[in-house]
Amino acid sequence: MDSSAHGVTKQYALIGDPVSHSISPFIQNSIFEAKRSNSRYIPLQVKPQDLAETVTVLRERFEGFNVTIPHKQAVMKYLDEIHPYAHLCGAVNTVRNDKGRLVGFNTDGYGFMQAFAQVGLKISHRDVLLLGAGGSARAVLCELLRCQCRVTIINRSLAKARQLQQDLAGLPGTAVVGEPGGMQGLYDCIINTTPLGMAPYADRAPIDLDCLHGVQIVYDLIYNPYETKLLQAAKAQKLTAINGFPMLFYQALEANRLWLEFPLTQSDVKNLYQQALLHLKKLQ
Ligand code: NAP
Repeated sequence: MDSSAHGVTKQYALIGDPVSHSISPFIQNSIFEAKRSNSRYIPLQVKPQDLAETVTVLRERFEGFNVTIPHKQAVMKYLDEIHPYAHLCGAVNTVRNDKGRLVGFNTDGYGFMQAFAQVGLKISHRDVLLLGAGGSARAVLCELLRCQCRVTIINRSLAKARQLQQDLAGLPGTAVVGEPGGMQGLYDCIINTTPLGMAPYADRAPIDLDCLHGVQIVYDLIYNPYETKLLQAAKAQKLTAINGFPMLFYQALEANRLWLEFPLTQSDVKNLYQQALLHLKKLQ
């Protein structure tokens, strides 16, 4: 039974640390409004040591939740079921509460791919430099390998990059762990999944910006600032520059669909996208 039809507000949350900067509450509450659902989505700042207790409370009182930095992998052990795709990625960003049974999904990969579709680009069979090996890099690498890309992973901690490479070794495509530097002309796509470019590292780029020669696409998962130093350099060199906003929007749309299946028209989606974009730009 849909409790919202009887005036009971359904509760959803975002758990992470930090969460105060996130525009996910705006996006999710706008989607609920468009679906005319009596639902509310709130951000909850959760420290790693409080994760287990928070999940217990969410299980009792919330219909679902999103998971962000740094809990995407840690949350998995508290769930009752992991969707095969999230299991493959090794990270969960969306949880649905099926009457007390918590099911984990990953919608980051879907959002990541939608951004390519939006600019009419195919990612298949490309040579990609992937910067970072954290929670979001897992879903990104999963999609790149499924598209049979040849991926070089560069990460601050080599061990984590190696672990990521090993965990996804069964997929098509190839992934190797690389060293920074000497990358001119080697890659046609660079993807940043590190926080280098956003506060407190807003004045930094994750790679040497003189090394973009030969690159066609630069994709930065960061959406605030709307244009990082990396994307500014890509644009200045007339490369295709994609920021993290489309990924953020579409992963949210897919998470909401998992919680509340309700048809939205293309025009609804377009309006929601524009509303969220406007909201983000006001924060710049
Ligand atoms: P995460 O799991 O904490 O991973 C962060 C990655 O960046 C790790 O590989 C880490 O390296 C590296 N890193 C962190 N600080 C660094 C530094 N100072 N110098 C060099 N490398 C550093 O985080 P995440 O969930 O993957 O998120 C990463 C970024 O993606 C964030 O900016 C987040 O906002 C963005 N994101 C965007 C979306 C979207 O929808 N647009 C979705 C998810 C994430 P180590 O392994 O060495 O720690």
